[in-house]
This record gives sequence, structure tokens and C-alpha cells, in this order.
Amino acid sequence: MGSEILTYMLFKNDSGYDDERQGFQLLAAHRPDLIVPAATAEDVRRGVAHAASRNLPVAVQATGHGLPVAAAEGVLITTKRMDGVTVDPATATARVEAGARWQEVIVAAARHGLAPLSGSSPGVGVVSYTLGGGLGLLARQYGYAADQVRALDVVTADAEPRHVTPDDDLFWALVGGRGNFGVVTALEISLVPVRRLYGGALYFDQVETALRTWRDWTHALPDEMTSSIAVIPFPDVPQAPFPGRTVAHVRIAFNGDPEEGEELVRPLRAIGPRLADTVGELPYTGTAAIHNDPEHPSGYFATHSLLRALPEVEPLLGVRGVVEVRHLGGALTKPQGAPNSVGNRDAQYLAAVLSPGLPPGADLAALRPAHDAVADALSPWATGGQVLNFLYAGNAGPEQVRRAYEPADYDRLTRLKTEWDPANLFRMNHNIPPA
Ligand SMILES: Cc1cc2nc3c(=O)[nH]c(=O)nc-3n(C[C@H](O)[C@H](O)[C@H](O)COP(=O)(O)OP(=O)(O)OC[C@H]3O[C@@H](n4cnc5c(N)ncnc54)[C@H](O)[C@@H]3O)c2cc1C
Repeated sequence: MGSEILTYMLFKNDSGYDDERQGFQLLAAHRPDLIVPAATAEDVRRGVAHAASRNLPVAVQATGHGLPVAAAEGVLITTKRMDGVTVDPATATARVEAGARWQEVIVAAARHGLAPLSGSSPGVGVVSYTLGGGLGLLARQYGYAADQVRALDVVTADAEPRHVTPDDDLFWALVGGRGNFGVVTALEISLVPVRRLYGGALYFDQVETALRTWRDWTHALPDEMTSSIAVIPFPDVPQAPFPGRTVAHVRIAFNGDPEEGEELVRPLRAIGPRLADTVGELPYTGTAAIHNDPEHPSGYFATHSLLRALPEVEPLLGVRGVVEVRHLGGALTKPQGAPNSVGNRDAQYLAAVLSPGLPPGADLAALRPAHDAVADALSPWATGGQVLNFLYAGNAGPEQVRRAYEPADYDRLTRLKTEWDPANLFRMNHNIPPA
């Protein structure tokens, strides 16, 4: 197992403990017995060795955007200092350390005319996003980010560092099952040859018309067009883009000729008067403007449904909270690279409800009925599946996690969990218990 002597750690009363455990999600935070702020893969190995030798559970945090469950004991390994990114233009690959955010990869790749399959927010951590599937801006053209993983480095529950390639069962399990099988210290991913998009955002007051028009429009699109729509009730504060108004925000990412993009977007522009229209030629480094996700930590609770079709938009109207529908299909339906355990590739839409701006410890029971009402109304078209990346605190229990996988794959994951982590050391996550 090697040395388990930790050179730097933080206990509950240490100064720096609270800063270190706080992540992007303010609804809850880890409160472990011990934090290991890791700067190297060796720090991670020592942290796991320390926990394994005492049978303590291990949690991991890069940015905290995806906190599934707050650890109340054990060891938290934080990876934000491990933010190295190296791009090899000859092989169009990037090696990305555990704590790097998409922003770092986007900038490094752009120097070589390349781009990663990043998502709506460049502040999200690369490793967790990718190993949870990764629904990106170019998802319909290139599929899940997970499909672009070539190799990874991981410390397993026996505190062994391992280099894992697609020939290993462990690769299949980690790419989709992520933190259940170890702490990943680095990923090697393929990049795609993209410099610029035709993309941006359209905002409308006519929410119902926008939802219907966008839904109909998605029925006949090339895979190079990935889009989504959000219905956002903005608070009545001066800092809000449209104070006190509920608006439809259509997000466009087209990887093709700008003239063709303009032609494709024409029916959306015809929805009605535009409150704002930023759709145009856009360098990939500017793609954060498409979704305009919050950059500052906040508290949020979210639920979602994967849908085969969206024949009615009524369930999405008058909802308390933000509603978002992402157009799926295209390359997402066909695994693109080495086999992995990402499930639910058959859906055509993902419909989510987000309750934003929540204080720490907010009463989620009071919010659930509004979320459940949307899911119930959409249930005739729901596949029953869930997307691991969108299972956040308060909605990341064993049943939701199980629904992120095909049934046979889930059984295989539980068998591999029994093999690789029989004590369920890695359980403070989107947990797959041993068989
Ligand atoms: C504003 C916002 C926008 C988003 N946009 C998208 C999007 O467009 N597409 C999409 O697919 N998802 C999106 N997500 C979801 C996001 O991909 C997940 O929440 C992801 O888990 C975040 O990873 P993180 O490292 O930033 O967060 P963290 O909270 O640090 O990590 C989440 C969990 O991943 C596990 N984990 C983290 N690092 C490791 C590691 N090194 N080894 C093993 N396990 C690890 C841990 O269990 C951890 O609790 C978004 C989330 C937010 C809040």
C-alpha cells in the first residue's frame, strides 16, 4: 500500500477547513473529519491509503458543482490544486488533471484549433462531468464527452495508482460509474477540430410560442445543430438581465457554415420580438455566452426527466422555478468510442426543473411537489432514465442513480464494485453499492 503519511491535512477546527470544503453548491457542504487538499496524484494515493487503513469513507471534490451528498464523516480529498492541462496537437488529445475546469482545456485546445466536448458552463470540473456522461454544446454531433476518454489514471480502494485503458473492465466501469471505483487523478481525452461556431442566445417574452416553435423546429435538424430552451422567471432585481420577467432563452450551437446556421435559425427568430439576440459567429472560447450559466456559487435543487418525445408543452408552463429542455438524439444515440457504462442513450429530450437561489439547508420537501408535478405530467413520454450529471444534492439517492444505467449494465457495475471496492469506501458519491 506504500506510505500513508499525510503531509498536509485539515481537521474541523483548523483555519482553512471551511474554505476548503465549500464548493459551488451552497445548499449543502461536506463536513468530513479530515480534508486532504491534494496537489499531486501521490497526495491522492496517501489520502486513500489513510482512509482505507482505517476503513473511513472517502469523498472527492473538484469544484462542488455536482455535490450529490454531503459527507458528515471520513476523508474528503479536494483536487482543485491539480489543474494541469496538456494538449498534444499531433494526436488531438488532452491530458487533464483531476481538478481542472473546462475553461482551462478550452483555452489550451483553442491554441491548436481544437475544442473539448465541454458543456454549458466552463467552470464545471472536467473529470466528473466527463465520467458522468457529459452532455455538451456539440452533443448531437459528437455524442457524450465520456465517449472521448482514451485512458485514465486512478487510485483504487486498495490505494494503488493504476493507468486504465479501454481493454480493462475498470475503464468501462469508471467511464459512467466515476467515483464509485476510485479517485481519478487524470484523464486523457480526444479533442475535436472546432475553432468557431454559429451560436449564441435568443430571448423572448412569448414563452409558450417559443416552446412550441423550438420543439417543432427540433424535429428536422442536422446533427451539427445542438440547442436547448430555458424558461427563466428572473427576480425583480436590477442585476437580473430582465428584472421581474419570465422569458424564454433559446441556446444555439451550430458547427457548420454560418450562412447555413443563419438559415436554420430563421424560424426561431420569427417567434416574435427578440429581447436579445447574440446568435452569430462565435469562437469556441466564447461559448460560455450561449447558456450564460451562473458563475458564482449558489444553492440549487433540480430534477429531470428523459423523454422519447415532447408532444405537449403545457407541463412546462407556469412552473415555479427554471425549466430547461435540451435536445438530445443525433450522435448521443450511438456510442462513439470505447465501450463505457453511460446509459439512457435513447432519449430525444431532457426536461429539467431547477429551483435556484436556495439558502443552505433549504426545505426541499416544500419544493418537491412543484418538481414532481412536472415529472408526472411528462411521464407518458418519459423513458424512466436519469442522467448522472444532473442528479444533485437532495435528488441523488440509490434509486435515481440506478436509473442512470441500463439494467444489465447496473448489475455489471455492482459486480465490479464488489470486486474493486467491497467495503464501499467510495460511498459518499452517486453511490452504486456492492452486489
Ligand atoms: C451551472 C452548471 C452547469 C452544468 N452544465 C452541464 C452540462 O452542460 N452538461 C453536463 O453533462 N453536466 C452539466 N452540469 C453537471 C456537472 O457536469 C456535474 O455536476 C459534475 O459532477 C460537476 O463536476 P465538478 O467536478 O464540477 O463537481 P464536484 O461537485 O466537485 O464533483 C461532483 C462529484 O463527482 C465525483 N468526483 C469529482 N472528482 C472526482 C475524481 N477526481 N474522481 C472520482 N470522482 C470524482 C465526486 O463524487 C463528486 O461529489 C452542470 C452543473 C452546473 C452546476
